[in-house]
Amino acid sequence: MELVNIRTLSADDLKSSLISLGQPAFRASQVYHWLWGQYVLDFSEMSNIGKAMQEVLTQNFISQKTKITQLQKSQDETIKVGFETYDGHAIEGVLIPTDSRVTICISSQIGCSLACTFCATGLMKRVRNLFAFEIYDQVKLMQELALQHYKRPITNIVYMGMGEPLLNLDEVVKSIFLLHDEAHGLNFSYKRITISTSGIVRGIQKLTELKIPINLALSLHAPNNALRTQIMDINKSNPLEEVVEALDSFYNLTQNKISFEYVLLRGINDSLEQAAELVALCRKVPAFVNIIEFNRVEGISYSKSDTPTKTSFVTYLREKGITCKIRRSRGKDIDAACGQLANKLNNVNLIS
Ligand code: SAH
Ligand code: SF4
Repeated sequence: MELVNIRTLSADDLKSSLISLGQPAFRASQVYHWLWGQYVLDFSEMSNIGKAMQEVLTQNFISQKTKITQLQKSQDETIKVGFETYDGHAIEGVLIPTDSRVTICISSQIGCSLACTFCATGLMKRVRNLFAFEIYDQVKLMQELALQHYKRPITNIVYMGMGEPLLNLDEVVKSIFLLHDEAHGLNFSYKRITISTSGIVRGIQKLTELKIPINLALSLHAPNNALRTQIMDINKSNPLEEVVEALDSFYNLTQNKISFEYVLLRGINDSLEQAAELVALCRKVPAFVNIIEFNRVEGISYSKSDTPTKTSFVTYLREKGITCKIRRSRGKDIDAACGQLANKLNNVNLIS
């Protein structure tokens, strides 16, 4: 009989499984509390459930988990973390400290099925979706690292690592509930969680239906359909008007402004005409713009915009009243910056 990974079960699933194994329901709450409240994953360490119950668990379940395999600390204190999933795949996360925050960037898939032309993860195939528990593990393990290295806990979580979170919506939503859960999770406020998406309309609508008041970032990168489709294939089936409409409904629910991520690519999307189109988009849905410097990726031929071009682009947006931040690139010396999260250990999955 194949053992079930106990960490894939919800509280209700665990209860019915244990009842069907002839155990009383209260045992399920105890075990669930060990797993998610205490983060004790070894059945033999669950001290109040009795030897017989520990034996039942061992015979029916396994408790798989994610491990840290590598740590790299950048000169700017950014830490890149290499994780290994229970089945031997590499994923990555990043810890980014600032004066007031410790933000972590986590992965939602192993690889990515989309192939945005500027992204290192896009060069990989999608191997599989991550389970909610694997997303949760990244946060738990990075919490320990934050306390150890910065003496401060995590303040913000962004789903901006490997993968497209809205193409793994069920597990991503489960992970958000786990992180938010007061009794069994980290009691993490929705306001401090951000999902970054390439613009999956159905996924944005689902989040709206579920009324989860997190923040959404759209990897916009181009202000019109023609260019966007050229650099991000997903735009073909998810055109900008539909994405913006879905984002607007999400905004109406949460009142959280959308963040438009915009990587400046030299000669591609950095002209003043394009800045004007971007301003027009920002009038359709309450949004602010995050300008991101392009990080060089091996095998990808774009370059970052030069400084005068970047400055006039940003100045134009600001003159039109758009809130526009320039995101400092962190952890560059260790390949931890955006779009560089294609783990070298996963080289076998690279499309040659
Ligand atoms: N799939 C989701 C989540 C990954 S987020 C998404 O695309 O939004 C990764 C972020 O880094 C995205 O905003 C992505 O567009 C950006 N990015 C990808 N490649 C980059 C590069 N080479 N330089 C800078 N940013 C990049
Ligand atoms: Fe996937 Fe996001 Fe990279 Fe596009 S930018 S390939 S959606 S991870």
